[in-house]
This record gives sequence, structure tokens and C-alpha cells, in this order.
Amino acid sequence: MARPEGGRPVRPQVVLQVVKRQQISEHLVRLTFGGPGFEDFVDKPATDRYIKILFAKPELGLTPPYDMDELRERLPGEDLPVRRTYTVRRSDTAEGTIEVDFVVHGSDGIAGPWARDAKIGDSVCFSGPGGMYLPKDEFDYHLLVGDETAIPAIAASLEAMGEDLVGQALIEVEGAGDEIELRAPNGVDIRWIHRGSAFTPESSTLEAVVRQHPWPSGRVQVFAHGEREVMKSLRSYFYDERGVDRRDMSLSAYWAFGRAEDVFQAEKRTPVGQIFAE
Ligand SMILES: Cc1cc2nc3c(=O)[nH]c(=O)nc-3n(C[C@H](O)[C@H](O)[C@H](O)COP(=O)(O)OP(=O)(O)OC[C@H]3O[C@@H](n4cnc5c(N)ncnc54)[C@H](O)[C@@H]3O)c2cc1C
Repeated sequence: MARPEGGRPVRPQVVLQVVKRQQISEHLVRLTFGGPGFEDFVDKPATDRYIKILFAKPELGLTPPYDMDELRERLPGEDLPVRRTYTVRRSDTAEGTIEVDFVVHGSDGIAGPWARDAKIGDSVCFSGPGGMYLPKDEFDYHLLVGDETAIPAIAASLEAMGEDLVGQALIEVEGAGDEIELRAPNGVDIRWIHRGSAFTPESSTLEAVVRQHPWPSGRVQVFAHGEREVMKSLRSYFYDERGVDRRDMSLSAYWAFGRAEDVFQAEKRTPVGQIFAE
């Protein structure tokens, strides 16, 4: 990987095209990306693999991949491509494709509306994947918790589990139209929680449901991702109250209510954005 002198390594960008679009639930759009650029995709053994998609303003007519250093020199900050983070739901090396499930959460934002309107042939440019979670056989119980944004990672994790693993997935969505078929071992129960409306701090009951779930005996591996304030409360529950070892937990904010991702990512360097005090 190229590394500018004294700087962080430059992540190569992968450029693919939309080859398929499916509405897989009321608020989830699955886009399949493929094309010759797939040979630049370096996969990773993790079920929470994520990519950073770069979105450029269409009116600037920029062609991906983007030379960010060059663009920084000639464009004002507000015209630079912005990053949005998405899970790789599935990759298929033989077909040369990856699938990404986008939550369409209204007309706010960039990635959600882009996915809603995406057409076959549209280009997508991203770096990654990153990610490091894998469900491990050595745990007695697997607890997977999240909102719509974590469905792809939870789905990929359930599919990767050995048949004898046991646990619970607790997934909060708006309503019945948001439930999708998930493949899981027999011993892992999947419970959909309906908040009855779009997410608001008041409508979410995920934390309460997790707290009501009987705490299992033995060693628990936790995977919990979703809205930032909900995740902060759950961190407190798992870590402070249930004593789950931090190394047994994959827990982070995937988004923050009322914050565009640029602001949300910048806030990770401040107390309001931190889930674990470093
Ligand atoms: C590691 C990782 C993996 C992720 N994987 C996925 C994934 O596979 N699929 C997926 O859909 N998302 C995923 N996300 C979340 C996604 O990156 C954010 O939801 C992102 O903010 C969406 O960008 P946007 O341009 O649509 O909205 P932004 O411009 O970032 O935000 C605009 C407004 O929309 C609100 N908003 C953003 N997301 C949501 C939401 N889901 N529901 C309601 N309101 C929202 C914001 O609070 C803000 O007010 C992931 C995030 C991380 C960190």
C-alpha cells in the first residue's frame, strides 16, 4: 500500500458499477456492484466488513477514482467528495460482485437518497474493506443487537456461524415491512422489534428490550451496532453492569441521530462521540 512520506497509507480506491438493484424490504435497497474494477477489491475475513464510499457532487463532473490530494488543492472543502460507511453484505469472487444493503431513511443525506435512485451502470467508488468481527465458536452464547444499519453485518454474521452455536439476535426496525429472511443456526433465535415509526430517541426501545432479555450464563460474545446514544447506553449495560470483557464485544455507533456522517465521524475525537472512554 502506498504511504506518503511520514503520512498514513493511501488506501487504493475501487471503482465498480451498479449491476443489480433490489428493494429487499420497505427501507432496505440492495445494490450489487461489479465490473472490471473488482480485481482491485481485496477481501477481508470478517462478517462486519465495511467500505468507505466516496460521493462527489454530480455537477462537478469528477471521474473516479478521486485524487483527493489534487482535489484538496483546487476545490473548496464543501466541494470535496464525502465519505459514507457501508457494510459488505456479501462478496462473490467467482461473479466479481459485492452486495451492499442501504437503509433508505428519507430524503436527508447523500448515500440513502443515492441508493434509492441508483440505476444500473452508475459508478461507485470506495476504499476498504475494514472490519474485524467474526462470531467465534469458543463462546457459550452470541448476542447480536442492532437497528436497520446493522442488518447486513448481523445477517452476514449469522450465516457464518457454525450450526451448533447458540444465541439471540435482537433487531429494531420501523415495522413488519422491514423484516427480511435471515439464515441462522437453529440455536440462534431472531427477534424483530418494531418501534412503529422512524427512529427517534423516544421511539427506540432497543435498549429496554436488550435489558429485558434474560442474561445467559457462560461466556457471551456481543455484537452491537446502531445509533450512537443507544450504543452508549448498551455499552454501559454490557460493560459496566454485565461485566462483558471489552475484547468479547464488538460495539460501536454506526450513525448518530441528527448528524450527517461527516459530523458524526469528526465527533468520534470528542467526548460526545466516544462510546468507550479511551
Ligand atoms: C462500520 C459501519 C457500517 C455501516 N453499514 C451500513 C449498512 O450496511 N447499511 C446502512 O444503511 N448503513 C450503514 N451504516 C450507517 C451509515 O453509514 C449511516 O447511516 C450514514 O449516515 C448514511 O449516510 P447518508 O448520506 O444517507 O446520511 P447522512 O448525510 O450521514 O445523514 C443525514 C441525516 O440522516 C440521518 N440518518 C443517517 N442514517 C440514518 C438511518 N439509518 N436512519 C435514520 N436516520 C439516519 C442523520 O442522523 C442525519 O440527520 C454503517 C456505518 C458504519 C460506521
